[in-house]
Amino acid sequence: MGWIGFEVRSRRRAELVDITGRVAEVVERSGVRDGTCHVFVPHTTAGVTINEGADPDVARDIESHLGEMVPKEAAFQHAEGNSDSHIKTVLIGPSCAAPVREGKLALGTWQAIFLCEWDGPRTRQVEVAVSPV
Ligand code: ZN
Repeated sequence: MGWIGFEVRSRRRAELVDITGRVAEVVERSGVRDGTCHVFVPHTTAGVTINEGADPDVARDIESHLGEMVPKEAAFQHAEGNSDSHIKTVLIGPSCAAPVREGKLALGTWQAIFLCEWDGPRTRQVEVAVSPV
């Protein structure tokens, strides 16, 4: 079935957007029973990660503490004014993978998949592929 893409709209400059439901939908439509779900974002100031989705305070803490670790204003060379967004994206990475079991996304109890926006608000692209194992 190849890669399936969808768009995500962020609302803040730094925001973890829970995309678990959208990814799970692609997995369920793929018809793959046992496999790997690959998630990739084609951006340099947004990434993707898996972390706690049960308590929304965790996502807020990640947003604010990465902001403290990588300040917006510093002695950066890049003239676009978003070097902090690029650096936070390096820390998060552009992709993640999760198991598919019995036709469903098999995340841990507390896990969710997040698009990590570091230079929003804007519309982002997410690509998902499901491969059998
Ligand atoms: Zn830039």
